[in-house]
Amino acid sequence: MSHRTIHLFRKGLRLHDNPTLLAALKSSEIVFPVYILDRKFMTSAMQLGTIRWHFLLQSLADLQASLKKLNSCLWIIQGEYEAILREHVKKWNITQVTFDDEIEPFYKEMERTIQNIGKEMGFEVFSMVGHTLYDVKRIVELNRGTPPLTYKRFLQILTTLGDPEMPVEDLTAENSQKLCPLPEEDLDECYRVPLPEDLGISKEHLSPWRGGETTGLQRLEEHMKNQGWIAKFTKPRTIPNSLLPSTTGLSPYFSLGCLSVRMFFYRLSKIYAQSKNHSLPPVSLQGQLLWREFFYTVASATPNFTKMVGNPICLQIEWYEDAEKLHKWKTAQTGFPWIDAIMTQLRQEGWIHHLARHAVACFLTRGDLWISWEEGMKVFEELLLDSDYSINAGNWMWLSASAFFHQYSRIFCPVRFGKRTDPEGHYIRKYLPVLKNFPSKYIYEPWTAPAEAQREAGCIIGKEYPFPMVNHKEVSDNNLQLMKQVREEQYKTAQLTRDDVDDPMEMGLKHRHSEEVTPKGKHARKAEEL
Ligand code: FAD
Repeated sequence: MSHRTIHLFRKGLRLHDNPTLLAALKSSEIVFPVYILDRKFMTSAMQLGTIRWHFLLQSLADLQASLKKLNSCLWIIQGEYEAILREHVKKWNITQVTFDDEIEPFYKEMERTIQNIGKEMGFEVFSMVGHTLYDVKRIVELNRGTPPLTYKRFLQILTTLGDPEMPVEDLTAENSQKLCPLPEEDLDECYRVPLPEDLGISKEHLSPWRGGETTGLQRLEEHMKNQGWIAKFTKPRTIPNSLLPSTTGLSPYFSLGCLSVRMFFYRLSKIYAQSKNHSLPPVSLQGQLLWREFFYTVASATPNFTKMVGNPICLQIEWYEDAEKLHKWKTAQTGFPWIDAIMTQLRQEGWIHHLARHAVACFLTRGDLWISWEEGMKVFEELLLDSDYSINAGNWMWLSASAFFHQYSRIFCPVRFGKRTDPEGHYIRKYLPVLKNFPSKYIYEPWTAPAEAQREAGCIIGKEYPFPMVNHKEVSDNNLQLMKQVREEQYKTAQLTRDDVDDPMEMGLKHRHSEEVTPKGKHARKAEEL
């Protein structure tokens, strides 16, 4: 049967390696590419913050422009998704609705709703996996129905599965002839990408990141020119406080599916095949994609993955509730320039380096403030361009040592961590201009500068910039004891599953930051015996 199809874009905002859309074209006489802009759903379920709204609108505009080049269009329809779908199924005599299979509970719920509407209105529903390397359900099945909780175990299962599916062909004028032609001009106006101000979103933002498949592909191609860098990429050696990203900076594009992870995976394989020796997982670039896959797999099969309560893999910890301290962390007023510079970059630009994420996440949770990882995750959700249900929660559990990560005695020092790779504090000077005139020896600890040096720098600590909100040594010693106690009490639980070789990314860090890890000695050793 030849269908009349709505292809519903949710993530997967691209025309390269889009298996669901390609399959829809093969089974249909006409395909309407649709994006339903359901603001209620997007604000409540997806937690879109301002910067990500801009990025999304840019990505939609890019997709629309690319579809126009194929003589079609992207129907961007605003409203509640159920009502919009019903209306357009009727209006266009739709017999099939297609969309990428996603793992997030809010998308799963949407899928069930669409299935039910389909039964009621008589259309078929078809979906394929396009956002991950594998169908993560297969990985869980092969692990006897439970998600693998260590990277090592995860990789073992992948050996059984073999390589991911190859990317499918890009959409071209030849294979996209069934796309519905451009609507007439007035319709074009109705279906255009809304302006931020139409949605009540502030026009102003400082983010240099631009959304869309075109920019994502350009960024990827730039990296591909540097084959040596790709082959030797070793994540722990990348610099958290470089002024331009020292890693690929592709995460915002993967997160909305402007770029295909399978395509990237195979582009990397090609480079690895041509290089004499290349880095390997977990620290290589393919290893990074596998971390992504790992968190997607665990998230797909873990109830309440983004919460502590009711989450079977997460340690149950009595974190402090302290709105004032949380606010200081969130708004870059901790008094630790390294932490505040990172939080400023996050707020202004929507992207920070992985190790910078480590620094601020450790500081908020088990390191200094003993505030729940869920609070930090929500702030990241609001501010990160690459915010992702599985990866964000997974990494927050990791950093707070609530799951996956066990070397909890290693606490990042909010002074020394950043200093190692940027002793002059260029990064701090850029993001915290109030401190820019401090001599390098004080830039990470401006409160130690004599009064005269502070006057000369034009910034009096306690007035123009806050004193540190905690005594790092004292609070981190105390928190280490709390964590040790929690783990002793809950030592029998599944979340303490571990492989000793499972934290090699952290081992890389240990190597570089060994002297930053506090505290050492008796307690740490005892704790690590767990
Ligand atoms: P690269 O190093 O170039 O890696 C390439 C790709 O691999 C990334 O784009 C990403 O898709 C994937 N990747 C890399 N590191 C990880 C990782 N540790 N876990 C899973 N996938 C990874 N990443 C997100 O995409 N969304 C999030 O919401 C997110 N939240 C995080 C929260 C915390 C507390 C921490 C510590 C990390 C978080 N990360 C998140 C993981 C990681 O920091 C980013 O993926 C990475 O920094 C993005 O930069 P990049 O594209 O240059 O990465």
